[in-house]
Amino acid sequence: MEIVRHRDELRQHWGGVLVPTMGALHEGHLSLIDRARESGYAPVMVSVFVNPAQFNDPEDLRRYPRDPERDAAMCGERGADVVYIPGSAEDVYPEGVDAPFSGALPPVATQPGLEDAYRPGHFAGVCRVGTRLFELARPAAATFGEKDWQQYQTARQLIAAERLPVQIIPGPTVREPHGLAMSSRNELLSKDGRAHAGQIKAAMDAANEVGHPATAERLGRDRLQDAGFDVEYFVVRDAETLLAPEPGRAMRVLVAAVLEGIRLIDNDTFGD
Ligand code: AMP
Repeated sequence: MEIVRHRDELRQHWGGVLVPTMGALHEGHLSLIDRARESGYAPVMVSVFVNPAQFNDPEDLRRYPRDPERDAAMCGERGADVVYIPGSAEDVYPEGVDAPFSGALPPVATQPGLEDAYRPGHFAGVCRVGTRLFELARPAAATFGEKDWQQYQTARQLIAAERLPVQIIPGPTVREPHGLAMSSRNELLSKDGRAHAGQIKAAMDAANEVGHPATAERLGRDRLQDAGFDVEYFVVRDAETLLAPEPGRAMRVLVAAVLEGIRLIDNDTFGD
């Protein structure tokens, strides 16, 4: 496996499948390498870049877990062909990290009032790094985890609106034994907190049993609050637009909740 530190070296790997990550890799990321390999596109390239442009909270950026050497080793073991670990943020953004996203943000990024309402500018940063990585690596396909459902829908809309020649390969959410969706931020929780955070999945399951969206939202929110979470949102939405559910269309339950000062997000099917 080749480790690339400078964007100019990416040119020789154009046309493959990109697995964009922010590192501190776990089984959720590695499952996306599996999806990428199964896609038949080559090479399989993993990018490991903690993208400053998508953090609205400097403290969150500072404490984000980083372990690039371990990440590279894990990618190699899982069968990736190339890992792009930029030597600096300037390698991705030669014009400086503060330059704004130049395109139009897809409606699903901002209209639903979910992630972007709590993390202003987050999706501008996500779209900026996404389009930039596509420009640098020119992949034929890219993976997106369903764990970050709004990000996945944003990527779909962005690629369609900009007519980017990139096929999206989604991957299902991989969970820890207690039900918590795997996330690099989970490392910042205490051992007990990590087990307790399985309550998020339990609350989504309970909401699903209720079936009626408004009642399910109420039940899920109350349940997490009673369990000591600070709930930002617990909502049932249209699975694609993330606006209010409409009859006959797929729904999704989406959650953001804070435990031990760590912000956790999750989502699941609803009413299937
Ligand atoms: P991140 O490193 O958090 O930016 O995530 C990189 C990619 O991995 C994104 O497409 C995420 O949606 C995906 N991902 C993160 N956690 C999981 C998980 N638990 N299961 C599946 N995909 C995940």
